[in-house]
Amino acid sequence: MKVGIAMMSHETNTFSPVITDLARFSGGRAQPMAGQTAIDVFTNTASCLGGYIEVARGRGAEIVMGIAAGAPPSGRVEDDCYEYMCEAIVSLAGQVEALMLDLHGAMATRSHDDGEGELLARIRQAHPDLPIAVSLDMHANVTQRMVDNCDVLTGYHTYPHIDMDGTARRAANIFFDMLDGKVKPVMHWENAPMLPHVMRQGTDDFPNNQLQARARELENGDCLAVSLFTGFPHADIHDAGLSVVVVTDNNKGSAAGYAAELLDTAWQERERFVYQVEPLAESMQRAQSAAEQPGEGPVLILDHYDNTASGGTMDTTEVLAAVLDAGLEDVAVFGAVLAEPIQ
Ligand SMILES: [Zn+2]
Repeated sequence: MKVGIAMMSHETNTFSPVITDLARFSGGRAQPMAGQTAIDVFTNTASCLGGYIEVARGRGAEIVMGIAAGAPPSGRVEDDCYEYMCEAIVSLAGQVEALMLDLHGAMATRSHDDGEGELLARIRQAHPDLPIAVSLDMHANVTQRMVDNCDVLTGYHTYPHIDMDGTARRAANIFFDMLDGKVKPVMHWENAPMLPHVMRQGTDDFPNNQLQARARELENGDCLAVSLFTGFPHADIHDAGLSVVVVTDNNKGSAAGYAAELLDTAWQERERFVYQVEPLAESMQRAQSAAEQPGEGPVLILDHYDNTASGGTMDTTEVLAAVLDAGLEDVAVFGAVLAEPIQ
């Protein structure tokens, strides 16, 4: 069996002025990586593509590798860039008998708030009978349209993300079981009106640790995959926020029941998803007293409110000003150099 594999991954911060064009998805190449180069780069890595490649090989499938396009978080994806990636993946879909996609789930473009839903709908329109599996980041802002236009959908159980390959393996194994006629996946998606703060989404911390543990616990028997997405709050779109996707073996009712249970727990603990901001002057005092403890190591002050690595420009100087105002000594400062043009 010919199985297509491709990646189109971007976490879009709709408030970011940083431009997201094809160069940003190309990593210094003329175009995004694709084909054998992408297979060579991602084989045996802890990435979604690594997980897909491993399962496809293990199941004896012939891999047809499409684009592996991923860009660091930034502003809305430019239309010509999005069209390039969509055309590449829709074209791949026409060459294979099944398709496995590594998508982020929080892509917004200049013209589409739901970049992944739009892509999946286009594939379904062009190739209505093609089976499609999707793996998403925990920060996905999942939509009904995404779920309606694929057969299997899974998301990460960890943040920081250390189970990307496991997430893709979970999707791929259910998918191949479906192709072999062993299971008949049905999915239920539902969301809650919550925008959990990114700093309160960690899976080493309550409540997301317990929510993810419960999701893993439910993945048993006929319940094939349970994914709780904390969502990406820096996206001014309709479906941003916390959601759940449950995949069961032909049992819509139990899928809806498990989703409702997780959403109910998340809603009850909504206050714990709120991040309490400490005034900068207090942070400086704490840094000063920590540094004065004998034998203690260096003190790190991290400026998350520049939204570093999530679409921020990483050029703000408020923390540096606070360090100077507080008179802290022996301070080294690092700020990322922004290489991309700003609107
Ligand atoms: Zn993420």
